[in-house]
Amino acid sequence: MMTPVSIDKNEILKYYKPIAVDTHKGIQGHALIIGGSYGKIGAVCLSSKAALKAGCGLVTAYIPKCGYQIVQIAIPEVMVLTDRNKKCISNISFDLQPDAIGIGPGIGQDEVTRKAFLKFLKTNEIPLVIDADGLNILSQNKAWFLLLQPGTILTPHPKELERLIGKWISEEEKFEKTISFSLQYNVIVVMKGAPTYIIDGETLYKNTTGNQALATAGSGDVLTGIISSFLAQGYESVQAAILGVYLHGLTADLAAPKTGFQSFIASDSISNLGAAFLSLE
Ligand code: AMP
Ligand code: MG
Repeated sequence: MMTPVSIDKNEILKYYKPIAVDTHKGIQGHALIIGGSYGKIGAVCLSSKAALKAGCGLVTAYIPKCGYQIVQIAIPEVMVLTDRNKKCISNISFDLQPDAIGIGPGIGQDEVTRKAFLKFLKTNEIPLVIDADGLNILSQNKAWFLLLQPGTILTPHPKELERLIGKWISEEEKFEKTISFSLQYNVIVVMKGAPTYIIDGETLYKNTTGNQALATAGSGDVLTGIISSFLAQGYESVQAAILGVYLHGLTADLAAPKTGFQSFIASDSISNLGAAFLSLE
């Protein structure tokens, strides 16, 4: 296997740009998080809040109607657009120009959601992160991979990765298959795990932060929000993925001495993002 590039502080400082003194929210990036379904609106709350805490200027959540008050009350800083459907996403249409979109957290796999997601993929030209059931829908038909825009970021955990690329019989084969997938469709694959690897065509990156505290509900939703935020702030796709994975892991490393591995929850990741950023200065 090729030697991976280590994602450590040195590597991060090659890309990371502190926020400019004279910036304003209108140029700091607008991220749109699309997802949620009845009982899984929390995934969008986590993702949207993480996006804001990762520094973009504006975040809009696009959710089914049942989530309207939940998101507005949980995170007053987030703007909300609702789908016409009460319980799940059925028609993705919005009248705004986000700089990046994260789709999938809590979205579910209802038939109407599947149709809406595919219709969206066919026309979307905005930098995109696909996670969770967005990946699971995508995996249902290999022909749909051709709908992915170059530079799209996919964030599968091991099961989602298997649905995308098929089963592997060795670690080596897993990497080979992911590399050919990345090359064939011109996408970036964040292979979440312990550790997380990022594959951008033939280049392999290995993250050095994170720990078992992250094995908890909503961890992946937070990561999707962070990466979407960096994409919205204008980072190249691979840079957004690298920065996101590193800082997400770092939140768990910084929190663990206070929460232990047992009591860490995904919200702790969000509340430690500030400390993670400060450690880069
Ligand atoms: P998800 O399964 O979508 O919620 O994503 C889980 C997130 O937590 C990913 O970013 C994983 O890399 C991370 N994670 C889960 N378990 C571990 C572990 N044992 N060590 C380090 N990171 C982990
Ligand atoms: Mg997940």
